[in-house]
Amino acid sequence: MPSYTAPVVDMQFVLHDVLNIAQSDIPGYDDLDRETTGAILEEAAKLAEGALAPVNATGDREGCRLENGVVRTPTGFAAAFEQIKAGGWNGLDLPEEFGGQNLPYVMNSATGEFFVSANMALNMYQGLTHGAISAILAHGSDAQKAQYLPKMVSLDWTGTMNLTEPHCGTDLGLIRTKAVPQDDGSYAITGQKIFISAGEHDMAENIIHLVLAKAHGGGAGTKGISMFIVPKFLVHEDGSLGARNGVSVGSIEDKMGIHGNATCVMNYDGATGYLVGELHKGMRAMFTMMNEARVGVGLQGYAQAAVAYENAAAYAKDRLQGRDVTGTKNPDGPADPLLVHPDIRRVLMDQKSFVEGARAFTMWGASLIDRAHRGQDPQADGLISLLTPVLKGFLTDKGFDMCVQAQQVYGGHGYIEEWGMSQFARDARIAMIYEGANGVQALDLVGRKLAQDGGKHVMAFFALIKDEVAGTDDPRLTDLREALKAASKDMQAAAMFFMETGMKNPNDALAGASDFMHLFGHVCLGLMWLRMARAAYAELDAGTSDVAFYEAKLDTARYYMVRQLPATALHLARIRSGGETVMALAEAEF
Ligand SMILES: Cc1cc2nc3c(=O)[nH]c(=O)nc-3n(C[C@H](O)[C@H](O)[C@H](O)COP(=O)(O)OP(=O)(O)OC[C@H]3O[C@@H](n4cnc5c(N)ncnc54)[C@H](O)[C@@H]3O)c2cc1C
Repeated sequence: MPSYTAPVVDMQFVLHDVLNIAQSDIPGYDDLDRETTGAILEEAAKLAEGALAPVNATGDREGCRLENGVVRTPTGFAAAFEQIKAGGWNGLDLPEEFGGQNLPYVMNSATGEFFVSANMALNMYQGLTHGAISAILAHGSDAQKAQYLPKMVSLDWTGTMNLTEPHCGTDLGLIRTKAVPQDDGSYAITGQKIFISAGEHDMAENIIHLVLAKAHGGGAGTKGISMFIVPKFLVHEDGSLGARNGVSVGSIEDKMGIHGNATCVMNYDGATGYLVGELHKGMRAMFTMMNEARVGVGLQGYAQAAVAYENAAAYAKDRLQGRDVTGTKNPDGPADPLLVHPDIRRVLMDQKSFVEGARAFTMWGASLIDRAHRGQDPQADGLISLLTPVLKGFLTDKGFDMCVQAQQVYGGHGYIEEWGMSQFARDARIAMIYEGANGVQALDLVGRKLAQDGGKHVMAFFALIKDEVAGTDDPRLTDLREALKAASKDMQAAAMFFMETGMKNPNDALAGASDFMHLFGHVCLGLMWLRMARAAYAELDAGTSDVAFYEAKLDTARYYMVRQLPATALHLARIRSGGETVMALAEAEF
C-alpha cells in the first residue's frame, strides 16, 4: 500500500522563503508568520496522514453504492469526514460571520494539497461545498446567506454544482432544464443533470444543489441561463429542515477513478428552486464558482503527482535491480537499487521538478486571488484570470503524466492494484476533463484571455518575467536567468503569431492553443524555479543549518531549466506550423 507524508517543510519553503507571505501587504497576510502557518500545516498533515490517507484505497476498492435512493459512501469515509468537520477545515478561509476563520485563501490551498494528496475522492465532498459557498457569498441575497451558509461552512450540509446534461457539457447554451416561476417567488425546476459529483451521499444532513436552468424570456444560448439553489430537504426560515424536495438520484456512474466520490445522475421533477443573483445572469454566477474550482482542479493534478512521486522515490531506493554501470553501489546485495540508474533518475527528476514547481505556481496563484479579492487589486485580478486556464490545464495534463511516470518506476508492480500506483493515475485523469476539458481551457486562454483588456495582462506577465530576470546580477543564477529569458522569448513569439494570424485564419490560432497553454505553463514553472533558486541561495548565504535541503532545490531548479524548459521551442514550432496540417484531411479519412 502507498504511504503519505505531507510535505510541510516544502510548503513552508514556498510560503515563506519564496513568496514571503508574512511580509506581504495583502490584508490578512501579516498574521501568517512562520510559526502560525507551521502549526496549521502540521495539524492538516496529521489529519491527512492519519485519517484521510488510510481510507483512500478502501474508497477506491469499495466505491459508492446506491441503495433505495441513498448513496452509501465507502467504509471509513463518514468517520474521516467527521474529522474534517470537527477541525473546521472547510471554513479556514471563509467569513467568521458564517462560522469560518477568515484566513487567506492561500492557506486553504496549502492545506488543500495535503488533503487532496491523501484522498482526492473524499476531499471533493468538501471542495464542491466550498465552491458552492463562494457562489452564494458572491451572488446570493443576505437572507440566502443567513439560511444556507452556516450549515454549509460547518459541512453539516454539503454543496454541488449542476451544469452538465446528457447532450451538453462544454456547450452549456444547449441546456434544457427548465425553471418556471411560482406564485411564492420560488421556481419549479425540471430536468436531468448528469455526472454530478457528490450529488447524493450519506455524510450530510442536507445537500444544497446549485443548478443551472433556463427560465422563460432570457433568449437563446447561455444568455437565458439562471442559477438556482435547490436543497435536497427544503429549509425553513429558522434553518430547520422541512419536506423532501423533488430532486432525486437516478443512478451513480461506474467510472475509471475517484470511486469514493459519488458521480450522480440527478433528476429534478418540479423541484423547488430559489433564484441566486439576477434572472438570466446565471453563467456569471456559476463562473465565480468555476474559477475557484479550476484553480482547485489544477491543484488536484499536481497533488496526485506529489503523492505518486513520494512513493516512487521510496520504491526506487528499495527495489534492487541491475548494477550501476559506473561501479557497484550495493556490493553486499544481489543488485543495486533502482535509483542508481540514470533512466530512473530522469523520471524521478521530471516528477520532482514538476511537483515542486507546480506547488510554488499554485501558491503564487492563490496569493494573487487573495490580492485580487482581499486587496481589491484589479491588476492581480487580471493576472489570475489569465493564469487560471494555465493552472487548470497545464498542471492537470502534466500531473497525470507524472502519475504515469511514477507508476512506471514500479515496473509491473505499478500495474497491479495492490501497490496503489494505478489509483493515483486513475484518480488524476478526471482532473483533465471536468471543470472544462483541457482543450477548452486552451481555447479560453488563446481565444479570450490573451487579448483580454487589450492584452494588458499578458503584457504584465512578460514585464514580470523581465523584472525577475533583471532583478539579480548574482552570477550563480546566470544560467537559470538565461534559460527563462529564452523560454519567455518563445512565448512572446507565439503570442505574436496568434496576433498576426488569428484574425485572418482562426484555425491557425486554435490549432496551437493547447501548445500555447503548455508553453505558458513551462514559462510559469521556469519563473517559479528561478524564484526558488534565489531563495535557496539566500538561505545558504545566511548560513542555514539545512544545507542539503537548499542544495537539492538548486539541483532541481537546474534540472528543470535544462531538461524541461526547452520544451517551449517545440511548442513554438508546432504553433508556427498553424492549422493547415491539422485541418488537411477530408472528414471521410478519419
Ligand atoms: C467524474 C466526473 C465528475 C463530474 N462532475 C461534474 C459536476 O460535479 N458537475 C457538473 O456539472 N459536471 C460534472 N462533470 C461533467 C464535466 O464537467 C464534463 O464532462 C466536461 O465539462 C466535458 O463535457 P462533456 O463530457 O459533455 O464533453 P463535450 O462537451 O462533448 O466535449 C468533448 C470533447 O470535445 C472538446 N470540445 C468541446 N467543445 C469544443 C470546442 N468548441 N472546441 C474544441 N474542442 C471542444 C472537449 O474539450 C472534449 O475533449 C463531471 C464529469 C465526470 C466524468
